[in-house]
Amino acid sequence: DAPVLTIDGPSGSGKGTISRAVALRLGWHYLDSGALYRAVGVAAGWADLDLGDAAALVRCTFDTTIAFRDDPAGEPRVIVNGHDATDELRTETAGAAASAIAAIPEVRAALKDRQRAFRRAPGLVADGRDMGTVIFPDARWKVFLTASAEERAERRYKQLKNKGVSVTMDGLLREILARDARDANRAVAPLRPAEEAVRIDTTGLGIETVVAQVLALLPA
Ligand code: C5P
Repeated sequence: DAPVLTIDGPSGSGKGTISRAVALRLGWHYLDSGALYRAVGVAAGWADLDLGDAAALVRCTFDTTIAFRDDPAGEPRVIVNGHDATDELRTETAGAAASAIAAIPEVRAALKDRQRAFRRAPGLVADGRDMGTVIFPDARWKVFLTASAEERAERRYKQLKNKGVSVTMDGLLREILARDARDANRAVAPLRPAEEAVRIDTTGLGIETVVAQVLALLPA
């Protein structure tokens, strides 16, 4: 099997940015597992589904097609049911829907094989909440990123502002804390570091510093 490096952590811990940079540096594939949950959340919204209707959400998971398309200009585009949903996926509304949907065991089970299919030579960097604990428990390297809640909210704030989305720091901090609490307390695949994961607190650290710390774990 191709080697896997898992990078888990809460929202805004820098997972996405760090994972993409590390994958690029290594020439490996990249899995943004959060985008799968967000895609189902957005598709459920398009279909006007009730976030409390687990059976409908499970059906929606099976019915939703999700494709990633490399964009030389930046982050990969995410195509959901044939529509470019990249910008919609980034909103905190999509994040909250994803978090609600991600608590349904059958939804997580339905997405398992789709995630494992990303494991291809020469290697995979997998970014999410349960990459090291559930999806790739045999991964050769596991990282768990954290950062203070204030810094995580601030990073999201900058990300969203860059995209022209209007949000307030206070509202964002509240939403992020609520989402983290739900992710950490759900019965299935709660957010927690794999025992053998290397923990990195990214508070106050620049992207390059963290990327270097992660790359240092792998043989040169
Ligand atoms: O990482 P991101 O913020 O895009 O993830 C959105 C939501 O999807 C998370 O809050 C979490 O509830 C869920 N998720 C998950 N397992 C993953 C990735 C994301 O439960 N591996």
